[in-house]
Formats: sequence, C-alpha cells, structure tokens
Amino acid sequence: MKLVFATANQNKAKEIQLLIPNSIEILSLNDIHCQEEIPETQATIEGNASQKAFYVYEKYSQNCFADDTGLEVEALDGQPGVLSARYAGEAKNANDNMDKVLLEMKGMSNRKARFKTVISLVINGKELQFEGIVDGTILTEKRGNSGFGYDPIFLPDGSSKSFAEMDLSEKNRISHRAIAVNKLVEYLKTLA
Ligand code: IMP
Repeated sequence: MKLVFATANQNKAKEIQLLIPNSIEILSLNDIHCQEEIPETQATIEGNASQKAFYVYEKYSQNCFADDTGLEVEALDGQPGVLSARYAGEAKNANDNMDKVLLEMKGMSNRKARFKTVISLVINGKELQFEGIVDGTILTEKRGNSGFGYDPIFLPDGSSKSFAEMDLSEKNRISHRAIAVNKLVEYLKTLA
C-alpha cells in the first residue's frame, strides 16, 4: 500500500517513519511534486487535519494522511491549541512560541497541559480520524535540544525528561503522535 504523508515538517516525517511498517510505502510531498504550502485555516485540530488530507487527495489524486497537532494548556483555557504553530506570529518560530507560553504562565502553579494529535486518513475519498493525547506539565524553562516545536517546555507525566531531552525512540514510545500513528497502523493492517 502507498500513502502520502501530507507534511512539510521533516521532524514529523522522521518520527512517523519509525512507527510505520515497511509494508506501507510512505510518499512525501516532494515525491508527488507538491511544493506549495497546504492551507490549514480551520477552527479545530480535527478540521485542519481533514483539510490537509483532503487537499492532497483532491489535488493530487493520492490516498494520504495528515497530522495536525496542538499544545493545550489548562490554565490558558486550552491555548495555544489550534493556533500552536502561529501562537507568537506568522513567522511560526518555535522559540518565540515557547517564550510566549512561558511568559503567559509566569508565576502560575497550574501547569497542566497536553499534546493532542489528530491524524486524518483519506482513502478513495473516505475519511477516518485517529487521535493521540499525552498529558504533562509545562516547565518553567526550556530543557533539551532534541525534537521540535514545544518539546523543550513539555514534561510528559511520569517522565523526568522533557520531550526535547529524549531521543526519537524514547519520544516515540509515549508521544501523542505515536499513539495516533499506532492506531492508524492497526487500522491499515485490517485493510491488508
Ligand atoms: P502542526 O500540526 O504542524 O500545525 O503543528 C502545530 C504546532 O505544534 C507547531 O508549532 C509545531 O511545531 C508544534 N508541534 C507539533 N507536533 C509537535 C511535537 O510533537 N512536539 C512539540 N511541538 C509540536
């Protein structure tokens, strides 16, 4: 089976590559000559995942899946949430985004947060979604250099390491994306 993973984010691509069995061939956006930025203008994580997957399915006639992820901070009423990529502005800068969260949470004792990933799979025009959630807390400063996005400020529950202090295989054992991808893989196995 061949599926396009509709992402321009090489970090996401690396993470999911390790979780998908070799029997499923993953094509990148480059492989299908999709160079443009795929719109994500919906009001929810679910809506954005769907929009990205259907964009590729409709424009490139390829079965595909897309992931949309958000960091939801309890004390910030679930923000940055669907706005995670652009939280500190259109530049989509990870450091600026983290600085904004850290500043807004200065002095706050409730630091509960979660990462939520929704994967939208579109096969022959039919859509299914798979969700992965990991609970944790927001640190008071950045820790670690691995990973991407908000990883340096997120401490998953039960761990002494931030996501950015883990190597890829450690993050993949517990992450929101891994939970969603594992559900996707279980479903794909039923089609084989
Ligand atoms: P999107 O799913 O690519 O739209 O990502 C939304 C925002 O969440 C971006 O700022 C990403 O850098 C960030 N993000 C997505 N996945 C992760 C992750 O696994 N760890 C940390 N940040 C992430």
